[in-house]
Amino acid sequence: MGKDVIIIGGGANAVSAYTRIPAGPGISSVTFVAPHPIGLGGAFGTTDPELLCNTSVDVTSLDPEGASGLLTYLTARGWPTGRDDFVPRYLVGQYCRERYRQARTAAHERGTTTRHLTARARTVRRDGDRYTVRLDDGREVTGSDVLVCLGLDRPRLPDQLRPHRAHPELLTSPYPIRRLRALPTDATVLLYGTKLSAIDAALVLLAGDSGRRVVMTSPSGALPAVRTRLCRPDKALLETDRWLALDPRSPYLDTQITRILVSALSRHAPRRGLGRQTSTASTPATRLAEELHLATTGAAAWQDVIAETIDTINEWAAPWSPQTRTDVLSRFREPITRYISAIPAANARRLAAHQATGALHIADAMPKQVRPRPDGGWLVRWPGGREEHVDRVVCAAGYHAPRLTWGDDGALHLDGSGGTDAHITEDLRVTPDPSVPGERVWAIGAAAHRRTPIVNYLRTAAFHAREVGAQLARP
Ligand SMILES: Cc1cc2nc3c(=O)[nH]c(=O)nc-3n(C[C@H](O)[C@H](O)[C@H](O)COP(=O)(O)OP(=O)(O)OC[C@H]3O[C@@H](n4cnc5c(N)ncnc54)[C@H](O)[C@@H]3O)c2cc1C
Repeated sequence: MGKDVIIIGGGANAVSAYTRIPAGPGISSVTFVAPHPIGLGGAFGTTDPELLCNTSVDVTSLDPEGASGLLTYLTARGWPTGRDDFVPRYLVGQYCRERYRQARTAAHERGTTTRHLTARARTVRRDGDRYTVRLDDGREVTGSDVLVCLGLDRPRLPDQLRPHRAHPELLTSPYPIRRLRALPTDATVLLYGTKLSAIDAALVLLAGDSGRRVVMTSPSGALPAVRTRLCRPDKALLETDRWLALDPRSPYLDTQITRILVSALSRHAPRRGLGRQTSTASTPATRLAEELHLATTGAAAWQDVIAETIDTINEWAAPWSPQTRTDVLSRFREPITRYISAIPAANARRLAAHQATGALHIADAMPKQVRPRPDGGWLVRWPGGREEHVDRVVCAAGYHAPRLTWGDDGALHLDGSGGTDAHITEDLRVTPDPSVPGERVWAIGAAAHRRTPIVNYLRTAAFHAREVGAQLARP
């Protein structure tokens, strides 16, 4: 009898995993458990053309190696696209959907059945050498191997907003985007967040002839850096082996990493030091304008080492303990969010234009207090005592990573309700106890964030999928 594989989740990562399920007689069936059509998950399931990828076509691929699958897909359909481009995210959803259909046909031809149960999975429990996945509609499905491909779909709500989570004039997430478009066109909106999903929200709220005003706020008050590409270099720029040999507990780690990056950049762009590639302006508007200028005049050479940096950090951190991971990553949180998650120049240009007209303002502090007014709208009290009336509040402050936990019932709980955090082994298996071999349950993409530092990136999930596919191919 062959293996019966269960894939939990139906976004891009699930499709990447599906395409890596080995061809051959060893796999009898694949069952997807996902609440939506396969391929059309959160980030890439949108239909809104305003929402751009922040990763270039080159790295936004279901396959980590070779030519970009997305580039091949788009050029075959006549899109005038190159590997540097940041395309609308809905195109990635279409690419994933089509790759899923092709893979399903190929699987069918070699005798593997594929089915999709439209539901969410709640728990995974071992029964002998099989696993039972319990769904939220009461059904159960059993299989020999389980791939957990959950994405980011639990928005973070700042403490200030928690008491008001059910208020009709608060959107706790910017998605689905049509709710933003439905807000009054003359509304003043207080927008929590200054990173990617908040930028999505600001651009949608201010698009076209909108008369809206948006005030963005976050603890850092900082926008991501600006880039014109995120591509794999034609030949390696980074001394990866030197980086991988660094001791993560070294007190000199910041200097050692900086040296590796500076030496890569001095070979790549010899006449431009790192200090001349970035802006340190203290106001977000000036910094955005300066970084946009640097990126669009070809001066931001740093962007060319980012793809290798992400791959290297993920490989370097793979064997670490959770404590080491937390300690090291907290030291580098700022560069990771600013430069690794930089925004496309097209989005930066639109933000800068809205700032110039006064439609967009980025607050330099978080409000002291935000509360609904009895006659509608919200009262915002800023540090220093200034008060402001806004019509709506939108929260785009990021997402909780999926939390896999074990419960007293011996089952893996996918919604964090189990009590004890699951361990993810270096080969991505889920286990209740790091001293015993992992289950035949694997975490891919965001679900593996306790093992892999940079998971909000399709390329990372594609590496995970390749690794898990290789393990599935073994008897
Ligand atoms: C706003 C936004 C923009 C992004 N832009 C980019 C980008 O430009 N480039 C890039 O590389 N990455 C981007 N990412 C990161 C992106 O999420 C990952 O790259 C990832 O590849 C997306 O695929 P996914 O399958 O993990 O997640 P999703 O597409 O979110 O799919 C996961 C699906 O699993 C389902 N699910 C959740 N829980 C369960 C359950 N219990 N049972 C069954 N199904 C469940 C959800 O319904 C969800 O739709 C972005 C993320 C966000 C949030």
